[in-house]
Amino acid sequence: MITIKSEREIALLKKAGNIVYKTHQYIKPFIKEGITTKELDSLAEKYILSQGATPSFKGYEGFPTALCISVNDEVVHGFPSERKLKNGDIVTLDIGACYKGYHGDSAWTYQVGDIAKELKHLMEYTEKSLFIGLEQIKPGAHIGDIGHAIETYAKSYNLGVVQELCGHGVGTDVHEDPEVPNYGKPGTGPKLKVGMVLAIEPMLTLGSPEIMIEDNNWTIVTEDHSPSAHYEHTVVVTQDGYEILTGE
Ligand code: MG
Ligand code: MG
Repeated sequence: MITIKSEREIALLKKAGNIVYKTHQYIKPFIKEGITTKELDSLAEKYILSQGATPSFKGYEGFPTALCISVNDEVVHGFPSERKLKNGDIVTLDIGACYKGYHGDSAWTYQVGDIAKELKHLMEYTEKSLFIGLEQIKPGAHIGDIGHAIETYAKSYNLGVVQELCGHGVGTDVHEDPEVPNYGKPGTGPKLKVGMVLAIEPMLTLGSPEIMIEDNNWTIVTEDHSPSAHYEHTVVVTQDGYEILTGE
């Protein structure tokens, strides 16, 4: 069921989203060669708690940590660990925070030191594909319009579109209806209405978009081990289009 959020709920979702945004800004300077992904997780968790919120993913269906931290060929659900970031890596921090029962969800891919030109290409056009998808959002548009725009754009830059993972509604649950695939046909899928809250999150790859799951039963990696990038914002559908909730 797709729910329409009240003004009161949107205000709480905006507060949760802003905490997620501030957590990204807080953690960004720490993303350097030599830091472990576990250290990043623990810094972010402390920050989220300091803001009067709780990490949305910790304990979610048994997920063990506050953040999902996915390095290079890891697409999503990477476990923070003793792994040290290296110069030339790309790393995605997927951050969720729950404030007074409402969630914000935003992922961002960061570079570690100097990265290869093709990784810059992957990051630049995955980030842009998020905004191409967001531009489709307005009352009366369809979920399929978003995915179609992302897919067409990604393919024009020779990037693979992971199909098994998608965006979603956000509210009192971090994952609500509807699913928002990063591919699709214009004019198909549920119609957008003012007050719907959605997380849009293209996950693109430099190589094949095929994925597989690691032995921990959580972490998704590309089958060909090509690098993957992931950008996500939670937004609310407004009269004029949309408003980003996981921003300033
Ligand atoms: Mg996320
Ligand atoms: Mg999400």
